[in-house]
Amino acid sequence: MARGWAFCAACGLCCRDTEMPLTPRDVERIEALGYGREEFSVERGGVRYLRNVDGRCFFYEEGRGCRIYPYRPLGCSVYPVVFDAEEGRPVADPYCPMAPLVPERWLREAEPVLRLVLRQAGLGKRDKGEAAPYTRGETVED
Ligand code: SF4
Repeated sequence: MARGWAFCAACGLCCRDTEMPLTPRDVERIEALGYGREEFSVERGGVRYLRNVDGRCFFYEEGRGCRIYPYRPLGCSVYPVVFDAEEGRPVADPYCPMAPLVPERWLREAEPVLRLVLRQAGLGKRDKGEAAPYTRGETVED
């Protein structure tokens, strides 16, 4: 499974204005580190998402990156593969400068992971086009 990759440019763009949905397990795992769920996430329409602070994920730290990298949400672990809700399939996030290098195999391997994230986060049963869990635009902030 594609979990992190050797070609990462470490630009931090992926953690900006994140709209990453969280599974109940993600929330529990991060809470076990000592963070409160209201601190690191927001709830919209019954779905919990990572919280942004000043346009970045709550856990992103300049110069250090993800503060919870080994415990990061499942959806983060397969990035830059994201689920395109319009297309109804996994794609390499065009927001990532290294996206052109993502092999087709990674898209295939990440698909069941992303579908599981959507389902467990509570986004799995929405109509095509309605759920946009990984597309960027609206920022999930306070
Ligand atoms: S949890 Fe970590 S990897 Fe995921 S968006 Fe936040 S800083 Fe980035």
